[in-house]
Amino acid sequence: MSTTDKNAVIETEEQQALRAAVATLGKRYGRDYFTRIVAEEAHPDALWSEAAKLGYLGVSIPEEYGGGGGGITELSIVLEELGAAGSPLLMMVVSPAICATVIARFGTDAQKQQWLPGLADGSLTMAFGITEPDAGSNSHRITTTARRDGHDWVLTGRKVFVSGVDIADATLIVGRTEDARTGSLKPCLFIVPRETPGFGRSQIDMELQAPEKQFELVLDDVRLPADALVGDEDAGLLQLFAGLNPERIMTAAFAVGMARYALGRAVQYAKERTVWKSPIGAHQALAHPLAQAHIEIELARLMMRKAATLYDAGDDMGAGEAANMAKYAAAEACVKTVDQAVHTLGGNGLTREYGLASLIVASRVARIAPVSREMILNFVSHQSLGLPKSY
Ligand SMILES: Cc1cc2nc3c(=O)[nH]c(=O)nc-3n(C[C@H](O)[C@H](O)[C@H](O)COP(=O)(O)OP(=O)(O)OC[C@H]3O[C@@H](n4cnc5c(N)ncnc54)[C@H](O)[C@@H]3O)c2cc1C
Repeated sequence: MSTTDKNAVIETEEQQALRAAVATLGKRYGRDYFTRIVAEEAHPDALWSEAAKLGYLGVSIPEEYGGGGGGITELSIVLEELGAAGSPLLMMVVSPAICATVIARFGTDAQKQQWLPGLADGSLTMAFGITEPDAGSNSHRITTTARRDGHDWVLTGRKVFVSGVDIADATLIVGRTEDARTGSLKPCLFIVPRETPGFGRSQIDMELQAPEKQFELVLDDVRLPADALVGDEDAGLLQLFAGLNPERIMTAAFAVGMARYALGRAVQYAKERTVWKSPIGAHQALAHPLAQAHIEIELARLMMRKAATLYDAGDDMGAGEAANMAKYAAAEACVKTVDQAVHTLGGNGLTREYGLASLIVASRVARIAPVSREMILNFVSHQSLGLPKSY
């Protein structure tokens, strides 16, 4: 029974059709395509454009702006299936999931007109920068500051690990503005076009084998027009959370896709490789960890589905807990599955030819980003269980 068949009861016909169609596209590109573009230091432009043309990248963007009018449920199906085929598009976590969602929900009419049709048809891409070198997991500590200068905004600060800034037309930067009444700094989102003077980037040398690169950013008096501020200055936190839940759900989809891909490769190998009388998959020492991986992936998918359903129903608070749990469960399932998959292949698990070893690094991404395993355990300890805080 394929994954698609098993979703028949919990997914609508449209969602099943989307899943099947994306899986077909993913298979056409597959792991070989991904490996080749990484080796050539190229970008997955062909897959990105084709996925966009077929309406997959814009599936969650409102129809009036050229999107499919669906939700994060549909968008996560797209990313999961591309990942399961071995060719995930990391920028989907950022461009359509965070940036388009925030602009669609809170942007001005002009921002919606300017960005959403392009984000939907893939002709525009937007990165997202919140992490700072001196704040890390403590995003309350970010210091990128926006001050008013006449009608303009002037941004100063630093960001780190921001993905895809080189290929993105703009980056949605999380900064702070000073509250005139209280003097305290409140979060605000700014759209910073890539070539804006003062917006410097340098690539971080990562061990990760992926086409999307990470950058350190320096914002040195970056002057922006008044309309670079997304939506309302007083609703910054609300806007931010509107983007962060989709980011977590999409990171879960990224991890589930990768885990499914690794498990598929391992199971196939375990059925074929024979060194005693029967294939190695007959030994329970190999079969049981693969079965466990399958169970844990399915559980993570279920939580991902719950989080996406809550989010799409407009329950931001409920979605918050579920999105955190889904991201946690998916990342842990992914790390464990990849580890077992590599082991299942014996020496071949470490060869370039089989291409699984590089997933050991890649599978860790979802454990640390966009919010680390420990910060999710902190969230659940404090918010869900009401336990006291240590920090
Ligand atoms: C491949 C990749 C892509 C990324 N893309 C982006 C992007 O596009 N945009 C963006 O803004 N950011 C991005 N990030 C950054 C990512 O979100 C951060 O790395 C993450 O939030 C953790 O921050 P940090 O690296 O500073 O770790 P730190 O905050 O320094 O944490 C280090 C360790 O300490 C632990 N820790 C910290 N505080 C606590 C605590 N209170 N209790 C228990 N443990 C704690 C953490 O869990 C972690 O294990 C990316 C990161 C990677 C690796």
